[in-house]
Amino acid sequence: MKSLLIKDGRIIDPGQGIDEIGNLLISEGKISWRGRTPPEGDYDVIHAEGLVVCPGFVDLHCHLRQPGFEEKETIATGTQAAAKGGFTTICAMPNTSPPLDNRATIEHIKAVAAEEGVVRVLPIGCVSKGRKGEELAEMGDLASAGVIGYSDDGSPVRNARLMRQALERSRGTGLPVIDHCEDLSLIEGGQMNEGAVATKLGLTGIPAAAEEITVARDLILAKLTGGHLHIAHVSAEGSVELIRRAKEKGVKVTAEVTPHHLILTEEAVIDHGTNAKVSPPLRTKRDNQALIKGLKENVIDIIATDHAPHAESDKKCDFALAASGISVFETVLGSLMRLVRNGQLPLNTLIAKLTSEPARILKDDKLGTLKIGAPADITIFDPGKEWVVDPETFVSKGKNTPLAGAVLKGKVMATIYGGKPVYKDEAIKLEAGEHILKGES
Ligand SMILES: [Zn+2]
Repeated sequence: MKSLLIKDGRIIDPGQGIDEIGNLLISEGKISWRGRTPPEGDYDVIHAEGLVVCPGFVDLHCHLRQPGFEEKETIATGTQAAAKGGFTTICAMPNTSPPLDNRATIEHIKAVAAEEGVVRVLPIGCVSKGRKGEELAEMGDLASAGVIGYSDDGSPVRNARLMRQALERSRGTGLPVIDHCEDLSLIEGGQMNEGAVATKLGLTGIPAAAEEITVARDLILAKLTGGHLHIAHVSAEGSVELIRRAKEKGVKVTAEVTPHHLILTEEAVIDHGTNAKVSPPLRTKRDNQALIKGLKENVIDIIATDHAPHAESDKKCDFALAASGISVFETVLGSLMRLVRNGQLPLNTLIAKLTSEPARILKDDKLGTLKIGAPADITIFDPGKEWVVDPETFVSKGKNTPLAGAVLKGKVMATIYGGKPVYKDEAIKLEAGEHILKGES
């Protein structure tokens, strides 16, 4: 592979505290040099003036739907969508069919990802056998097969005793137990956030308490066991406060928030119907503010997508029957740049929450970084480029998004994985040998 020089970009690598205009050289799939005056040599050049050059994004939470639900997404289409969104490492949830609850299923995912995926796929194994919440999966065996954590996501771990056992076992493997925190008895029949909008629409509400109760229980069990608890998609102000207090007391907990829980409220259901149905539900402005504050103060460690694509038929139906989840990968950067422009989140913090912070949870110092010697996983984006979200142009099979028609500012222009460009914006030319890659800003 010919070496590649990314020239004159704004290099931002929060893990190393770097924010400077400069050049990056990629050789043999790795980052080999960074500085002002490029060394002599034969390499292709990407012109990145006006563009941000940062580590490839790392997502701790997505649903690739394969095996079992290939009409919604496959490892091929899901990884292509991830690349288009600037992600070079994604962690796949195990609520497939069959679920990823044993070594053979994990090895299958890794084999398919190596063959058909365009970015790195790290599998998450189930907490319980068959995701039934009755008996622990073989957590040690799953760890040696290469999972990065355990989750019954889609469902919470209902049984407190099983959650306790899982956290105890996770101390041995050193991997987090990732819980989808919702009390099923409180969400039963619920369709969206409990409150005025639900009442107006005649839909059954889900109270924030459903989440907070399970977050509280899990934090107590994490304290009891010393296991690493990771709380998926925090949506409510009360949960942020519980996590804050637990962290202050030294409980081993990390937490994530999705882009949609940061920027959208329950009002989105009025305009977008089932395309705004997510689990946990979109809540209020007040929750948005608390989540953003939590993110800035490191109460919430990372942004994770919960990319949850569905087929059209899963959403074109009665609200009560519609599947929960939306297609997220391709809109992450554009939707979150709004927070940067509004002064709510510094750009470097946003990038940290998508790169060095998730890498820290994965305990992998080769990911989410532009360090010399690290794999050349790089995202190049134009912070000012405007575009309109048209789900028909998504490479994900999931076209379900509450952002359809929205004008976003900020667009991924190229994604490089292991030194190889795996996505480039259509406005960009990247020619082997000759090479021009330039934003239109
Ligand atoms: Zn979930």
